[in-house]
Amino acid sequence: MRQEHGERRDSRRFLVDAAGSMNGVSRTPALKNGPVRRFALSLALGAAACSPSPSPPGPAAPLATAALPCGTEVQGARNLAVLHRYWQQSSPPSTSASSALDRDIDNVALLQDGGDLVVRRNPFDLDAAALRFAPNRGGGYDVVPLSLPLDSGGTPLGIVTGGSAAVGLPFPFPFFGTTFSQVFVNADGSLTFGAPDSGEGEKGLALFLAGPPRAAAFLAELDPSRGGTITAQVLADRAVFLWSGVPGGGQINHNTFEIALHAGGALEMVYGEMQSREAVVGVSPGSTRDVTPADLSAARPAGSTGALAERFSETEKLDLVSVSRRFFARHPDIFEQIVIYTTRPLNPVAGTLAFELNVKNDVQGIGLETGLDETGQWGSAGGLASVVFMDSIDQYLEVDGFEILGHEVGHRWLARVRFRDAGGALSNALLGRALVHWSFFMNSDASVLEGNRIADRGGGHFETVDITRGYSALDQYVMGMRLPEEVPPVFYVDEPDNFRPNRSFKFSSAPEAGISFTGTRRDVRIEDVIAALGPRVPDALHAPRLLRHAFILVADDVAPATADRLQALARIRDHFGPYYSEATGGRGAVDSTLP
Ligand SMILES: [Zn+2]
Repeated sequence: MRQEHGERRDSRRFLVDAAGSMNGVSRTPALKNGPVRRFALSLALGAAACSPSPSPPGPAAPLATAALPCGTEVQGARNLAVLHRYWQQSSPPSTSASSALDRDIDNVALLQDGGDLVVRRNPFDLDAAALRFAPNRGGGYDVVPLSLPLDSGGTPLGIVTGGSAAVGLPFPFPFFGTTFSQVFVNADGSLTFGAPDSGEGEKGLALFLAGPPRAAAFLAELDPSRGGTITAQVLADRAVFLWSGVPGGGQINHNTFEIALHAGGALEMVYGEMQSREAVVGVSPGSTRDVTPADLSAARPAGSTGALAERFSETEKLDLVSVSRRFFARHPDIFEQIVIYTTRPLNPVAGTLAFELNVKNDVQGIGLETGLDETGQWGSAGGLASVVFMDSIDQYLEVDGFEILGHEVGHRWLARVRFRDAGGALSNALLGRALVHWSFFMNSDASVLEGNRIADRGGGHFETVDITRGYSALDQYVMGMRLPEEVPPVFYVDEPDNFRPNRSFKFSSAPEAGISFTGTRRDVRIEDVIAALGPRVPDALHAPRLLRHAFILVADDVAPATADRLQALARIRDHFGPYYSEATGGRGAVDSTLP
């Protein structure tokens, strides 16, 4: 349990980093030298290191632009599907015949945005504004712009970053048909009813909809531990909650706004100086997937019944669901994975370098949810299992970047492996960042899914000696390429301590060679994994060894598909086959041709 908590905390911290850059104006120097930078260093090391181990074909220069981590997380596909639906409703796609420009070149599918693939920015426009959310006859809320000053502060609630406080209300407050006598004030710029914010996951639309009933004045990563105050002023007929000078996550800035609850059921949101610019604003009944997109400053629309929200964003983003749908409209449903590059930075999960999403899984015994099937939404009739997003091809004009691509491709299956420990308890001690990578302290045999190759020096002394080489024997078991009897035991180091160099390392730290430490070796056998997860079905005799995947390049008028860009992706596609074969010890193959 200790580890579980540690990982959870750390996963949230990663998302704080991500939101920090998403909110965009400035980042603290501390963040620049934090875990993000270490990941970049280790990727560069992995690419540049020379050793007798098989080195992948293709250029081996460090990837200088790899400054941000992998953003793969549990539930990622659902988050993006929610955004897709919101974007579709807030700006109906143009009906231009943009797909007429789509074509396959050198087995790369080139898709041309016609206003339907790239989502435009929606700048925050509520500075010094005030909004009243008044209950309407449909059971939802109508928005009315007002002219209201901010209230003065009340009693400080002592809310820390990621935290919340319960405040009793002297009047019953009706919200989406349920009456509450207590409200939870959350650090993230929102009030919730019935439950505090979980403190986990991206502070975005998916959380806004799926979480508890919520009124969000500025749902974002906010950092009250670093400054400002959150106060409550509870009067007989209204309660005012003021975020005063609270910094955005990872930013040196200040944000001042309030939410007031009125005894009759109306809410008011009032804004002072807002230096963070990206957030979700609105009201949600919770436990829903549906939302009515709003233009709050224009008081539109009236008469909505459920969640009503506006999502403010400073950057343009790729709608991955629309990309997938467009691809499958013109290609057969034979691809287990699609790999998407763009001609300019359009990452929909800001603050990350690349990520993978699972949209379908039937494989049992690998720790990945089975029965998952969101393929219909993604335009596939059931063949698609995984979507990899690699962002701008311009990062890869000179380098293949297979430490990253191999990593994301591997996320189709990896790495969520639990095991039964010596006492029979379920353990996730092999897992690291966001519980979908190997732990820094696991001897992962230099897996591309993180962890390290760890040498046992004897007497409780260990040293990381290599990173990011390929798919380990355990990886290959999970990928359906090895039978249980072909998987030697692995080990992790329990209670690691005495690090040299003398820095702090966690389960979620990025791979890094040359780190020595002490601790207790714990061996984990494949039998312990099977005891926790059940057997892998299908097993290596029955699982496909050939991964059918497709490479997609999305271009638009701002950044056209130049010959350089097309050639780079054609080269990457060409090199990845030999790389994958070598990285799986000859057990796996890919076919990325387009019929
Ligand atoms: Zn990853």
